[in-house]
Amino acid sequence: MFRSRFMPCPVCGASVDRTALREHECSPERRADYEMFGLRGETAQLEAGVLRYLMTAAGRFETWLAAKHVRRRA
Ligand SMILES: [Zn+2]
Repeated sequence: MFRSRFMPCPVCGASVDRTALREHECSPERRADYEMFGLRGETAQLEAGVLRYLMTAAGRFETWLAAKHVRRRA
């Protein structure tokens, strides 16, 4: 069986040379991108859920109230 020299880091997803795996340090930016990629389904559902809520009576009221607060501060 063919075994690749490189493997994905389980924490940040970076392609890491197996012989240098112990020297690998995860980049915080890379790790955040990797985690956000793993959560892409949930973030898409969250956006749709917020939009659905904003179409309800309570959501429309909160939108109106927030705009009123913003206008008051200006
Ligand atoms: Zn890593």
